[in-house]
Amino acid sequence: MGLDLAGVTAWLRDFADQVHTNVDLLTDLDRQTGDADHGSNMDRGMQAVAALDMSSFASPGELLKKAGMTLVSTVGGASGPLYGTFFLRLAGAWPTTDDAAGLGAALRAGLDGIQSRGKAILGDKTMVDALLPAVEAYDKAVAEGVASALPAAVAACAAGRDATIPLVARKGRASYLGERSAGHQDPGATSLTMLLEAAGRTLV
Ligand code: ADP
Ligand code: MG
Repeated sequence: MGLDLAGVTAWLRDFADQVHTNVDLLTDLDRQTGDADHGSNMDRGMQAVAALDMSSFASPGELLKKAGMTLVSTVGGASGPLYGTFFLRLAGAWPTTDDAAGLGAALRAGLDGIQSRGKAILGDKTMVDALLPAVEAYDKAVAEGVASALPAAVAACAAGRDATIPLVARKGRASYLGERSAGHQDPGATSLTMLLEAAGRTLV
């Protein structure tokens, strides 16, 4: 598929489908440590993205920018601005050719955007715990090309998501629970892993 407009269109649609299919899972996870809206928040946002006329964009960067703005304006909560920033940063750094290092730099820019907005570091029990290991695994495998680096990133992302379970939250609503947040999987790390899994299916 590749990193062109068709590839990014397929990626966003695949992620929208995954969120829609798993809306109850994401909501149930957020019920345990938050306010039970992560599924509905993300579904509302990604359905709005999926409804965009993808063929009207001149480049993948333009589409990613519009997707980010759409998420900021429709999702709300903590995750709206964070996902929105991720896509806006991705848009600014998206490679113009099928360039493995360029995709790695774009993912890194997206991570940096989430961290500069949300101030979460590794271990705070947020989406950063899935995305940061994914970006690092991608970079490690980048010399082998997108077809090797993306699956490595997906595996690291899922492992990072699972590793949120025992953590005590230090950012976001879950942190209000203190020690009681331990024993639950972070909803944002769960949706973020769906985003990387969708990338693995569509951008390679
Ligand atoms: P809200 O918490 O406002 O209800 P959501 O339920 O949609 O928003 O999203 C919750 C998710 O947002 C969390 O599971 C976590 O992964 C992520 N999150 C919250 N705060 C931060 C932060 N400061 N940095 C990174 N991710 C965060
Ligand atoms: Mg919530």
